[in-house]
Amino acid sequence: MTEVRTRFAPSPTGYLHIGGLRTALYAWLFARNANGKFILRIEDTDRQREVEGATELIYRTMRETGLDYDEGPDIGGPVGPYIQTQRQDLYKKYADMLVDCGGAYYCFCTKEELDAKREAVESAGGTYRYDRACMDIPVEEARRRIAAGEPYVVRQRIPDSGEAFFDDLVFGRISVPVEELEDGVLLKTDGLPTYNFANVVDDSLMGITHIIRGTEYLSSTPKYNLIYQAYGWDIPQYIHVPPVMRDAQHKLSKRHGDASYEDFTSKGYLKDAILNYIALLGWNPGTTQEIFTLEELQKAFHVEGLSKSPAIFDVAKLNWMNAEYIRALSAEAFTENALPWYRKVLEPTAEQCSILCRILQPRLEIFGQIPEKIVFLAALPEYEPALFEHKKMKTDQPLALRVLKSVLPKLEAEPVWTEEAVHAALLATVAELGVKNGQVFWPVRIALTGMAVSPGGADEAAALLGREEGLRRLRFGIELLEKNA
Ligand code: GLU
Repeated sequence: MTEVRTRFAPSPTGYLHIGGLRTALYAWLFARNANGKFILRIEDTDRQREVEGATELIYRTMRETGLDYDEGPDIGGPVGPYIQTQRQDLYKKYADMLVDCGGAYYCFCTKEELDAKREAVESAGGTYRYDRACMDIPVEEARRRIAAGEPYVVRQRIPDSGEAFFDDLVFGRISVPVEELEDGVLLKTDGLPTYNFANVVDDSLMGITHIIRGTEYLSSTPKYNLIYQAYGWDIPQYIHVPPVMRDAQHKLSKRHGDASYEDFTSKGYLKDAILNYIALLGWNPGTTQEIFTLEELQKAFHVEGLSKSPAIFDVAKLNWMNAEYIRALSAEAFTENALPWYRKVLEPTAEQCSILCRILQPRLEIFGQIPEKIVFLAALPEYEPALFEHKKMKTDQPLALRVLKSVLPKLEAEPVWTEEAVHAALLATVAELGVKNGQVFWPVRIALTGMAVSPGGADEAAALLGREEGLRRLRFGIELLEKNA
């Protein structure tokens, strides 16, 4: 049996779309599942869309996500180069060959001529399609004109009648009458191929057995098959995967900040959670399992589970999954991931890290939520005395004032504010005033954090802030309540 070879063929346009990453993941899973090879190819023939640094970003993302490739531009391989602009001579050679096979012809129509024809057809209400003016120029004559330096393109010669079709492992047979197809440009005047040509030549020369890519290529794939047929090449298996959408109408978009892999990592999603989530976007394992390591995915992946309909990106579901991954981290790994986010607010001590890990890890969905949860550590937010009131806790401002006044001397007496010491001091106030725990812990936490909601309790907030700052805030709370009394 021939070895399975799949590829990921991104264009270096500046960022890796989440749908693109999913395509890469599926191609990788398919190859790994079949013990085959996974290849990275950079499709950079559209120089206008190219963004500097984009190729490096692709390498980095593949490395970071663990989607290792067996052959690729930066690691080489037997069928390189793996960057299309470095394969220019090949395309020219294969375009000439396709002309010889009868699958293409040289075209000398100028842009002005084509524009004029298009305008004439469209102003008469028709749909323009190239009129095949150059189709019958004898090849020898065309090659003489090319040798004399005349600009030209190579166009695909679509057969005059019949159906063009291909078989897709997800969508079944897709077939179009050839009358609906245009003799599209394969090689441009600048000598670079269009995607329509390069993908066929490269997939064939690189021995790709299974082409996994987005459904936006479904409608042009019959044309690609005609090229394979003209050369007499083996036709690969096709697996087209539907797009990832924000909702039924809208694509994920750069503008909404939900389009690229980086959009998510920069918000503090874990790469393993992102991969796990996108794997299930459009692929059904056929079991109820939802949490998969990359290794488990590799074993479980099968084409039959791929869906035909667009997948809706459900951020709430991703958040849930990310939270699961966060909870599964070791304390060290949690802190390592959390550190850049802590640092937006403060440079934490080891002691603070350990408390923060304990109170944040069980509840956090995204690391990016950390700063808003711990801003109180940097500075006491401005707050109204009404924040001390809490119906359910049965606290009001007069009680809060009594509590803080009772707590203050007890905590002043504590030289080091460990959680245990603070806890004991607060319980002493509970006993002294004959009130419920919440009636003490609530106002103290409010005085320390200035926030209605903060992670952890009063004792944790106290330990995080330390004695000096904590006392300052308690005194401030007392002042605030007294002013309002
Ligand atoms: N370069 C194409 C893209 O980025 C790849 C399509 C394919 O996988 O064939 O959309």
